[in-house]
Amino acid sequence: MKNTAFFDIIKYALHPLILLCVLTLWSLFPETPALYLLVMLGVQLVLGTLEYSIPARPDWVVHAKEKIAGVAMVIVLLMISIAVTLLYHTGLSASLAELRGSLHLDFWPHQWPLLVQLLMAFILSEFFWYGIHRAEHRWHPVWRLSGHGAHHSFKRLNALNFGLNHPLELFFLAIPPAIVELLFGVGSPAAGAAILMVTQASIVHANLDLSTKGVGLFFTTNRYHIRHHSIVMEESNTNYGCATILWDRVFGTFVDSDTTECGIGPTEPSLTQKLMMPVREPADTSVAPS
Ligand SMILES: [Zn+2]
Repeated sequence: MKNTAFFDIIKYALHPLILLCVLTLWSLFPETPALYLLVMLGVQLVLGTLEYSIPARPDWVVHAKEKIAGVAMVIVLLMISIAVTLLYHTGLSASLAELRGSLHLDFWPHQWPLLVQLLMAFILSEFFWYGIHRAEHRWHPVWRLSGHGAHHSFKRLNALNFGLNHPLELFFLAIPPAIVELLFGVGSPAAGAAILMVTQASIVHANLDLSTKGVGLFFTTNRYHIRHHSIVMEESNTNYGCATILWDRVFGTFVDSDTTECGIGPTEPSLTQKLMMPVREPADTSVAPS
């Protein structure tokens, strides 16, 4: 007999509970650089374990071999991502600080509670990502150049998909947090926002039955984001916010409905085809902009 109380706890409490734990941890250790990696690991372990025991879609459960290959890819991509972030910080730090001075953007409220500053950096960063992500789905050259189709190409999703992006897209993904941190001189709350974003990115790809009520008023839920991964173009062109659904609600691209099938076409491309997507798109792609 199924333990319905356990299912209900997971369904209604897991998402807010993870967010609460992560925000509490960051409040306690706001200056700990390793927290980003530790949180990412912890969240992946919790979600990954549950996806194997109580998956929302049992046919989406990946075999151990595939999961291990995915973990290896995410580790490599993560190292590239850190290098890209350092590159942006080294190259843009001085010029964006100068721009901040000339545009009189030195208004960041450093004296406000850290958690409020974190949420401000989170919302601001997500605003820039909303624009970039929507451009990827709107203009074909941006779609191709970013390799965003590779992220959409998976027929089955799980929490690990947060990090399975084309290497070229890492240069796009690193732009919003770098702009927010460097242009507005945010400091440690920007790192907290990055931790909240990676936590959300993991949850929204999870193959778990989670409730969208309450938490989904502000945060993106896996139901909303899985719709964005739909094989149907009209469904895919909604819910661009990966961490907060706020900007979709503001700009009219939010839709809440079920999704039956994910991917960019009837078949999932091979790893080589995914990597080649910026130069050669699979013939059966149905969600790429024209
Ligand atoms: Zn997308």
